[in-house]
Formats: sequence, structure tokens, C-alpha cells
Amino acid sequence: MKPGSILQPGQTLGILGGGQLGRMAAREAKRAGYRVAIYTNEPHGSPAGQLADLEINAAYYDDEARDHFLKEADVITMEFENLPGDLLAAFEKFRPVRPGRKALEICQNREREKLFLKENGLPHAEFQVVKNAIDLAAAVEALGLPCVLKTAAFGYDGKGQQKLMGGEDWAQVWKNLGAPRGVVEQWVTFEKEISVVAARGVDGSFAAFPPGENEHVHHILDLTIAPARIAPEVAAQAVELTEKIAAALAYTGTLAVEFFLKADGSLMVNEIAPRPHNSGHHTLDACLNSQFEQQVRAVAGLPLGDARQHTPAVMGNLLGDLWPAPEHAPDWSPILKHPRAKLHLYGKRRAVAGRKMGHFTVLGDTVEQALADAREIKAALAAQLPARDQPSPE
Ligand code: AMP
Repeated sequence: MKPGSILQPGQTLGILGGGQLGRMAAREAKRAGYRVAIYTNEPHGSPAGQLADLEINAAYYDDEARDHFLKEADVITMEFENLPGDLLAAFEKFRPVRPGRKALEICQNREREKLFLKENGLPHAEFQVVKNAIDLAAAVEALGLPCVLKTAAFGYDGKGQQKLMGGEDWAQVWKNLGAPRGVVEQWVTFEKEISVVAARGVDGSFAAFPPGENEHVHHILDLTIAPARIAPEVAAQAVELTEKIAAALAYTGTLAVEFFLKADGSLMVNEIAPRPHNSGHHTLDACLNSQFEQQVRAVAGLPLGDARQHTPAVMGNLLGDLWPAPEHAPDWSPILKHPRAKLHLYGKRRAVAGRKMGHFTVLGDTVEQALADAREIKAALAAQLPARDQPSPE
């Protein structure tokens, strides 16, 4: 496919990665008549591979697999950001890769992401980059307590993070991080965490979904309440900042920006995800176009769809913790019997604690109603577990 042209139904969308985000994008692409090729280092039958026309299962360094994927895919996108830069560079020589390598390289590394925010005058928590225990002690001294140490690379869902309260043994803390570089961030006292999921087209057009409000349990997203219960000016500012970020990254595709909302109404960017995001899953059921349709449209070179939300919604994640045993799924009737709830399962064969197995969305006349129903559904699912496995609040 030539850079200025549009991917036509019948042509092939190539997706790097085989997880649930690729699965939901594949479903949207298939609906519109595109072929889908998945390239994943997961074994055959990955969540995305199950719905694709072709699934290539090989290491990302496998030359034969790369060539095969390139031969099949007319345009390439990805469903996770931790891909080797040289792989993307190799693909970029022959096919449009959307989003491009620059955006991925920034968003896959916390150090580069923080520097990007700083250089572009975007609000963020004060931070310092650290390379050893001496740097760490100096950073804590400069930033003040509490603060949080995070790995510079490849962290998600709170992995590779430690909150520092003071009195720790810095040498031990540094050793526990187990990474060559870290970022120390000032602790932010926030009122809410919100996120904006948005898309940017090849032509620079931009469309954002209304911000969602996120509740985490043990650092993993638990619920997204959409639209977020925030002042309209705050919502407008979050969207404006997201547009600025997307433009500065010269972005094409769907992206998400997570924010901390402080008591004074100000926002700080926490993280940028260069892909559809867990906090945008409700868009499948509650918006005119979903975040995955927007991804397909943008990557295909089409104009973006209308990102309006037509119904208030709450999305709840379904983690492996809900499975009474690894191969024994919960009884889904609390979701299936609800007239305004939708069950989404990702086709993962084995449930593991903390693993995202699916999600549900509840629609309501009001966000409060959807939230009350979502909490009821969660409680009914949790009640199926033996008492010792009942999830504890954070
Ligand atoms: P992250 O992986 O950086 O998104 O962090 C996971 C979660 O940890 C966030 O969603 C916040 O709830 C919390 N967190 C991370 N960084 C900070 C910070 N600087 N101040 C307060 N809470 C934080």
C-alpha cells in the first residue's frame, strides 16, 4: 500500500501482537471486510490469532517470519508497544507502519516519555532519572518523600514500581528494582485518575472519546466509569492535552493518555499508551464508533469516525482471580442475565491471577445506575469464590 492511499476491504491489516487488543481490532477489521494477519511470539491460537485470517507464531527476530508477515500485510499496526525498534525500522522500509517508530520508542520507555512531556511543556510529576543507589538517594533528597521508583523500561500495571516512604536502605531498593535505569517520581496526591482515548488520522485530524474515570485495584484497572464525573472544563483540558500529545508524536492510530486529577482541578499526565487502551473498552458498546474502529480507520488511511458516546457505561475487568480453578470458568449469569450488560471474553485458555481474561460493560440511563449495576455484578461474581479467595479491597 502506498503512503497516500487507503486500505481497501479485501486488503490485509497486519497486527503485531496476539493479545486481546489485537483481537478486538481484528474483529472490527473483519467486520469491514479486511483480511487480518497477526504476527505474535505467543503460541498458535492467541486471542487475536483466533479471529485472524493468518497467524504467524514466531520470535520477532525470525527473518523468515518477518518476510512472511511483510508479504501478507498491506499496512502494519501493533497492539502493544514493547516491540524492538529495529523490527519496526525493517517494516517501515516496505510498508506504512502506524503509529510510527518515533511514537513507540517514546512511549515504550518511561524515561523517554517523561523527557518528551518535559520538552513539550506538558504537565507531569517532577522526576529524576537514576542509574544507581547513589543517584537514587540524591533523587529522593531532591524530590522529597513520599516518591515512587519505577523501571525506565517496560513497566505496566504497576510492575517494577516501589513507593518510597523514607528510611529504606537505598542499596537494597536499587537492587530490588533489578533494572539498569530507573525514574524516581514525586508522589502525586490525586482525587481521581482519568484517561482520554483518542484517535489521530493520517491527515492530522483528531477525535477523542469523552474522558473515562478509572478505579484500580492492586495497580490493575478494575473499573472505568464513562463519561468521567468531572467538570466540563477539566474534560476539555484533558482532551486538549491529549491532542497536543498526539500531534507532538506525529501520531496515526488510537492512543490513550492517563491523567491524575488533583483536588485543585489541575491535571498531570501519568502515562501515554500508543494503542487502544483497557479504559476504552466501553467504546465498543457505548459509542458511535469504538476505539478499535477508530484504530482501523486511522491505520487504513480513512477519515476518523464520530467518537460520540451515546449511552453512559461502566466497564469492569474480568481477571483470572475470578476463576474458581484455572480451567473452571465462573458462572457468567450475573452478566448474561442482565439486560444492559455485555460479556467480552478474550479466548485465553488458562486463567492466572492478575491476567486479563475479559471484561464486561454495563450500559445505564445514568452513569450512577451503570456503576451500581457493575458493582452488583462484580459482587455476584466474587461471591462464587471460596471465602479464602474473595478479592480484598486495595
Ligand atoms: P503506572 O504503571 O505508572 O501507570 O502506575 C500504576 C498506578 O500507580 C497509577 O495508576 C497510580 O494509581 C499509581 N501511581 C503511579 N505513579 C504515581 C505517582 N507519581 N503518584 C501517585 N500515584 C502513582
